[in-house]
Amino acid sequence: MKENHIGTKCIHEGYKPGNGEPRQVPVCQSTTFKYETSDEMGQLFDLEKEGYFYTRLQNPTNDAVAAKIAALEGGVAAMLTSSGQAANFMAVFNICEAGDHFISSSSIYGGTFNLFTVTMKKMGIECTVIDQDMPEEEIDKLFKPNTKAVFGETITNPTVNIFDIEKFAGIAHKHGVPLIVDNTFATPVNCRPFEWGADIVTHSTTKYMDGHAAGVGGCIVDSGNFDWMAYADKFPGLTTPDESYHGITYAERFGKGAYITKATAQLMRDLGCIQSPQNAFYLNLGLESLHLRMKQHCNSALAVAKYLESNSKVAWVKYPALESDTSYNLYKKYMPEGSCGVLCFGLKGGRDVSVGFMDKLKLASIETHVADSRTCLLHPASHTHRQMTEEQLAEAGVAPDLIRFSVGLEDPEDIIADLQQALDCI
Ligand SMILES: *Cc1c(COP(=O)(O)O)cnc(C)c1O
Repeated sequence: MKENHIGTKCIHEGYKPGNGEPRQVPVCQSTTFKYETSDEMGQLFDLEKEGYFYTRLQNPTNDAVAAKIAALEGGVAAMLTSSGQAANFMAVFNICEAGDHFISSSSIYGGTFNLFTVTMKKMGIECTVIDQDMPEEEIDKLFKPNTKAVFGETITNPTVNIFDIEKFAGIAHKHGVPLIVDNTFATPVNCRPFEWGADIVTHSTTKYMDGHAAGVGGCIVDSGNFDWMAYADKFPGLTTPDESYHGITYAERFGKGAYITKATAQLMRDLGCIQSPQNAFYLNLGLESLHLRMKQHCNSALAVAKYLESNSKVAWVKYPALESDTSYNLYKKYMPEGSCGVLCFGLKGGRDVSVGFMDKLKLASIETHVADSRTCLLHPASHTHRQMTEEQLAEAGVAPDLIRFSVGLEDPEDIIADLQQALDCI
């Protein structure tokens, strides 16, 4: 049979009820699971048998939803986390330890930038941030013997530039390390980074996947394509025995499932950033309509971007689907059906005019959020990127007048009317 389309997968993947079983994924609101014999549970602790014993490590609801996201991305395995921050931290920390180094695009979410350059630095993990438009030969020079990964965002938050996945996959693989891509904004409906050579995908499911501002969550997906054993000396955590599990070597024992098994068995066990099964249930409701919502978000965002571009008070608009956009060619290559509902723009008159305009909006609200059903906006220089110096802002491509505008699912005519009345006030 032909493989189902992505919309069908959004609805059906991850959970197939047996005869007489619940049609919707049941919420297994249980911390623990019962066994008949002590020996059976012992085998679970040794990773010799698959099964559930404690929700900090695995829970059937979470696993069903993770399996759906893995299927949407075309990966082999996935793990839900308590947040997108936890997902990005664990995705890197699963293969980097104190003394290691990785390379990240500088155009990333402010929280991730802080995690990589401040908090992980305190843990002894060094991150070199780069301009993602840097020529390949210059990026090559930044690799060191202890470099373990390359990181970027499919569509950068908040600058909505498009990461050249294929180029970075080529660079990462040339140096024997995996490419990790945060696919939060595009979602697998619009772009599937594994098809372009990425090895690991992360998500803040808090955004479009949940889609209703209902639950904070994250996810890590493994393509199963990176050959850890081929670079065994670089990734000892996957290729040498784990004494905390009686000497299991993940890459040998679990093959393509090694990376996610290690993340679950070690990182979740020790750090415990799990998603609650109830939140996983809400996330799954969001996933069931992701394909329809993304289409609407993208159509409305393009209408809003075109409106803003035509307004004389607007200094500039950044949206990948605009033909005038610097990311337009990458957009056509990686996500021809649509990018996301987020765009950014600045008003003539600079920072203060942009901020004053925001207060005049009635339908769109000022929120520390993005990518859900309600149109919202914020001013990164005053909000999400507030901790950054002017220099770091410039490096991340965040202009002082930049307004990040997340187009929701309201009627686009109403969104545009709201923008019009606010622009008329300034
Ligand atoms: C929001 C966001 C994160 C962080 O996710 P949380 O769920 O808020 O922890 C990471 N990456 C991107 C691209 C984001 O938009």
